[in-house]
Amino acid sequence: MGNLDFTVYSDPTLEEMHKQVAVRAASEPPRRYLGASSVGHSCERFVWYGIQGAPCEPMSAQGVYAVTDGHRTEDLIAERLRLVPGVTLETVDANGNQYGFEDGLFKGHCDGFIIGLLQAPKTPHIWEHKACNEKKFAKFESIRSKAGEKATLQQWDFTYYVQAQIYMHYFEMTQHYLTVSTPGGRSITSARTNYDKGFALAQVAKANRLLEAQEPPPRISNNPTWFECKWCKFRAVCHETA
Ligand code: SF4
Repeated sequence: MGNLDFTVYSDPTLEEMHKQVAVRAASEPPRRYLGASSVGHSCERFVWYGIQGAPCEPMSAQGVYAVTDGHRTEDLIAERLRLVPGVTLETVDANGNQYGFEDGLFKGHCDGFIIGLLQAPKTPHIWEHKACNEKKFAKFESIRSKAGEKATLQQWDFTYYVQAQIYMHYFEMTQHYLTVSTPGGRSITSARTNYDKGFALAQVAKANRLLEAQEPPPRISNNPTWFECKWCKFRAVCHETA
């Protein structure tokens, strides 16, 4: 028997499923507001294109699967956290809606509010969960071991850090509890973060400036092969316009 070449294997059913998942995702209308999860992106022009609903590369099926896994893992971790004696975790309000804030066209929805953490039993925290791949998970653990718990989020993922500060700001809370897991929730870790009022206010000001901007902000790079541009969903509209 010769060597098997698995790279040529293709299941037409699954190929079609991926295609249909991507088509369905592409048919969803773009949101026309600025979300707390976007404002910390490294490129202001990217954030601005998002507000404008500019044409972009549609999400791949793999991207859709990652987002779906993230939402399902979030529910799973919430269920597990509620098993801890003394922990109260609220993820929806009395109407069954996610907790959100709205400041004009600047909006956000947090994963929940938690109280009764064994390491800080009396302090209410914003709760967020992020599912990430094993490499990013290991990076989180490495940063926390070197920089300490409270500095971890900022160094691990600046966009998530901005999101955390904005939630603490709008929900008037001083602590944030982030749980992080590998896909499916097989490994899980955490870090708490303190509110930084000056930083949060600066991010709110940035959000308002981008919402009011009539022209696209400068590119993060004028080179379309720059690593952040290479994979950017707005690459075509961004680099093909003056
Ligand atoms: S292509 Fe580059 S400069 Fe343009 S929006 Fe994306 S990241 Fe920013």
